[in-house]
Amino acid sequence: MISPPTRIKTKTPSPYILTAIETVTHDTKTFRFELPADATLDMQPGDFLYVHATLDGKTVKRAYTPSSLPGMMGFFDLTVKRYETGVVSKYLHDRHTGDAVLMSGPNSGGHWVDGMATRVGFVAGGTGITPMISIIRWILNMKLKVELFLIFANKTESDIMFRQEWEDNTHQFPNFHCHHVLEQSPSGWSGSTGRITSEIVQQRLPAPSSDTCVFLCGPPPMVDSLETTLKELGYPEHTIILP
Ligand SMILES: Cc1cc2nc3c(=O)[nH]c(=O)nc-3n(C[C@H](O)[C@H](O)[C@H](O)COP(=O)(O)OP(=O)(O)OC[C@H]3O[C@@H](n4cnc5c(N)ncnc54)[C@H](O)[C@@H]3O)c2cc1C
Repeated sequence: MISPPTRIKTKTPSPYILTAIETVTHDTKTFRFELPADATLDMQPGDFLYVHATLDGKTVKRAYTPSSLPGMMGFFDLTVKRYETGVVSKYLHDRHTGDAVLMSGPNSGGHWVDGMATRVGFVAGGTGITPMISIIRWILNMKLKVELFLIFANKTESDIMFRQEWEDNTHQFPNFHCHHVLEQSPSGWSGSTGRITSEIVQQRLPAPSSDTCVFLCGPPPMVDSLETTLKELGYPEHTIILP
């Protein structure tokens, strides 16, 4: 008989060994951490871990949403953007394979639960894409009957994380739709340029309805302004989910 996987969740920081590092963009990397072969993180798609570090004698922690497909056994991934003045993002980018990193959780964020909607909008800015990719990978992988609409905002084309995956999904899955918005776009750019506006939301997201929800994640000013926009467009507060 096959025994069910061990589901891992810890309140106190536990060490995880870094096994691989992959470059995603010029300032973003995916860090793969080892789990026992029969174990997975005890999380819903969109939940997050805390990374803990002691730097210059000070203990710090920051939240990161695993970008890997929930339920993966034997490993999980964190995709982290490096900020020049950032404490924990720089600490992670300075790690090498074989290093141990302390983490606690997973902790419950605004997450996806199967059956919660049949049309799902995702509005992401920069690293706000990490909970979205985890949820999108889950829904597509599980072949759930859900229509997905992603609006992904970035500064420049070189900042778009997982770009190939969005293109592949668009070709492979008729229920996956993606629209890119760049602050600074190159000539011939087929997406939008500037900020995510009310018009873009109306054109690219499913209209408010009882079986629609919208995940919204990105820099706080973007989230605040788009939460207001979504409410003005008639999306009820409980259908706007902030992972
Ligand atoms: C639930 C949750 C999940 C998250 N998941 C991820 C994830 O998967 N990947 C990821 O890269 N980050 C994620 N973050 C953000 C992450 O927790 C840290 O805030 C980020 O890595 C910066 O931490 P730091 O210690 O390097 O920077 P800090 O030392 O906290 O900040 C230093 C400077 O960096 C800049 N900065 C910090 N954070 C941001 C930001 N979000 N946007 C713009 N400028 C910023 C500011 O200029 C700030 O002054 C998540 C946050 C939350 C709340």
